Formats: sequence, C-alpha cells, structure tokens
Amino acid sequence: MQTRTDLIEDLMGRFPHIPREAVIKEDLLRGGMAFDDSALSDNENGDVKPKSYFIFSFDHRTLPELGTAALRRPPEEIVLTGGPYGLRRTVVSVRVNPDSPYRVKDDGSGALQLFLDDRPIAYVGLPPMPEYYRHRLANGKSVMEVAPTIQWGYLVYLTVFRVCQYFGAKEECQYCDINHNWRQHKAAGRPYTGVKPVDEVLEAMEIIDRYDTAGASRAYTLTGGSVTSKVDGLAEADFYGRYAKAIEERFPGRWIGKVVAQALPKDDVQRFHDYGIRIYHPNYEVWDKRLFELYCPGKERYVGREEWHRRILDSADVFGPRNVIPNFVAGVEMAAPYGFATVDEAIDSTAEGLEYFMSRGITPRFTTWCPEPTTPLGRTNPQGAPLEYHIRLLEVYRATMEANGLSSPPGYGPPGAGNAVFSVSSFMDSLPAEESPAATPA
Ligand code: SF4
Repeated sequence: MQTRTDLIEDLMGRFPHIPREAVIKEDLLRGGMAFDDSALSDNENGDVKPKSYFIFSFDHRTLPELGTAALRRPPEEIVLTGGPYGLRRTVVSVRVNPDSPYRVKDDGSGALQLFLDDRPIAYVGLPPMPEYYRHRLANGKSVMEVAPTIQWGYLVYLTVFRVCQYFGAKEECQYCDINHNWRQHKAAGRPYTGVKPVDEVLEAMEIIDRYDTAGASRAYTLTGGSVTSKVDGLAEADFYGRYAKAIEERFPGRWIGKVVAQALPKDDVQRFHDYGIRIYHPNYEVWDKRLFELYCPGKERYVGREEWHRRILDSADVFGPRNVIPNFVAGVEMAAPYGFATVDEAIDSTAEGLEYFMSRGITPRFTTWCPEPTTPLGRTNPQGAPLEYHIRLLEVYRATMEANGLSSPPGYGPPGAGNAVFSVSSFMDSLPAEESPAATPA
C-alpha cells in the first residue's frame, strides 16, 4: 500500500522543478496536520502566537472534535527547515487534522519536528507571540480578535464582517464554512465579533503600529462575507471602504490596503480606490462554468459568472491590472459530486482561467482548499483533491505567468522557496526568488 511518504517522494521525483518545500506544504494545506499536546500554544498567555481563526475554520474537524487543541489553540503558522529533504524556510498555515499522518511533536531531544508516517522530516519553528498581542483594547478585546496578523506577521487580516449574506445551502459557496465558523466560536463562548466597529479596528491598528518595531507588518486585508443587502445601513463598497478610509486617514501609507470583496460594478470599485485601497481581490473561486454555477450558487444567482468576469476585467481600469488579484480555491475543481474526474481535465480547465486573466495582465492567486467538515464539499470529499493536482497547478501557474511576461503579484511578501511568507498556498514558494520592490517587506 502506498504511504504518504511514497506519495510525496513520487511527486518530488516526477516534478523535480517544483520545490520540495512546495510539495510538502501543499500536502499539509490540503490534508492538515496533527499536534502533540506539547506543541500547542498557551493561547494568549504564552510565548507562541496562537491560531486566530481569522475567517474560516481551516480545520478538518469541528472545534468540539479537536480535543486539547480546542482548549489550547495550535500555533497560527509553523515554519519548516532542514530534515532529510533539506527544506529551506517554509511558512505553512496551520490546519488541524487529528488523523493526519503529519504530526508536530517533540523528537525526544527537546526539539520540535514534523513527523510523517512516524519519521521526522523537518524541524518546526513556532511563531513567537508578537508584542502587540500582549496589549488589549480599552474595552478589553484582544488584538488577536480584532486585527490578527498572518503570513509571519506580514499581513493584518481584518475580517470585519464575520458572516456572509449568502446564507444556507442554496446560496453559500459549497466549500465555505464562514457562517458555521462564526456559530461554532459563539457556541464555544469565544469572543468573535460579527461586525467589527471602525473604532476598534483603528485602536488595534494603533497597537500594532506602536509595537511592531521590526516593521514586519506591511499590508492589511479588509474582508468578510458578501453583502447582498446592507450592513450598518451600508452596501458592500461603502461598508468595507469605510474601514480603509479611517485607516488611511489615521496612518497614511503605513500599510498596503487590500480588499477581498465581490466583483462589484465599476462605480463601486472606484469607491474602493477612492477610499484608499490599492489592491482588489474580486475572487472568481472556480473557473469552470458548470462548477461555478453548482458550487457558488449565490454568486451565480445574484451576479452570474459572465458578469462577474466582466467586472473583474473592468476593475483593471480602476486599479491597474497588476493590482487586481482575483483568488480561486485550488482543489474544488476535483470535488465530487460534480468536479472533474481526472487531474488532466481539472488542470486544463484551471489553466484556461489563468490564461484568460493573465493574458490581460491580471494575476490570479489561489488558496489551497481545506475540506472543512461542515461544508457540503468537505463532507463529500474529506481527503480533498489529489496532491498531484496541486503540484501540477503550481507548474501551470508559473508557466502561464512567465508566458505572459508577469511576475509575482504585489502585496504577498517575497517570492521564492526559502523566502516566501504567504502561508495558505505555495504559489509564492514556487516562483523565482526575484527581488520586487513592491512585493518585498523592508
Ligand atoms: S461569498 Fe462564498 S466564499 Fe465568500 S464568504 Fe460568502 S459563502 Fe463564503
């Protein structure tokens, strides 16, 4: 029987031009990792930066099924180095799966290592608790709850609206657990603010600015669920835009401002830009027409795929194509019951979408799909997509980018294995380690 070690070594052998770091990182992101209790954090009171649950759960089990990891949070990210594959520094977002063949534990000498099939394959570094997490807002809320940072501190992740107005099985994207994640945190009694007040966000940003003396924090992302009617009396562009306006007025140019929102009409997109946002992520989720209709039923019903794509192209007139970076969820192309049955077909479809945007100067990026158990596609596909799909996607992504004369998108930190900090997919790890002033933290 093929072990997971056999699987990754087979792919490393067949795709020698893909960094080994990316093979392991993709496998960890699609399938999760387990933790010995000794590798968990002491929440906000310890020396390790805990997982903030910044938007989705990104876990393979619900909170009540995580055991000790539900009481003592796992780290937000881990960094891998060394081991038999000679890994360069690789930052990986933590997705917990107690049944994973990957386990983080003490190797017996006091050092933490990542074990695969009971064999140590890399040393594990944990993110230190940032000084700004040790300070609270005047009302007692934690910075981790209001303005968590990810990507080894590079990105402040402002999920200012913790739920989505695409609601229920007929509207929610079929791989998304944003609404469930909100419910499970509420049920566990954790602080989890549905709509974050602007003043609280500003206060948390002030604390980050004051205590981030190393200058690691370089960008912020405003995001949350889609707004199909109104929140606080505001439609989507003005709701998310008001946070950017306040941040830019208080801290002009301190961070690169980004927003993840729906593909909105051009007037609304212009308002995002006027509010001070510089990078726009109108996510297209999955390229194939039939899969978009079936797996993103709310977006299909309210906007429709063709209109969605037209708006993405239109937004390049406002932001410039380089600063329009639509996301897709890598792996749902192969999700049963409607996904492609073969890796070849799935890659061909994804490549068509990449070419559609990249030939117009727009650089998509992707998040590796985590099959969360409370979503329809997570229930049907608990193993996620085949690892070969993820590896071949890295190959076709880089090839399409280079064929169109593009380089790594701005706002993602440095590219290249050993340099990348983007933690929820390895597309930045597999690009050339070129220096890009707009993309490199100082
Ligand atoms: S639009 Fe889809 S992916 Fe985005 S939050 Fe709503 S349900 Fe989730």
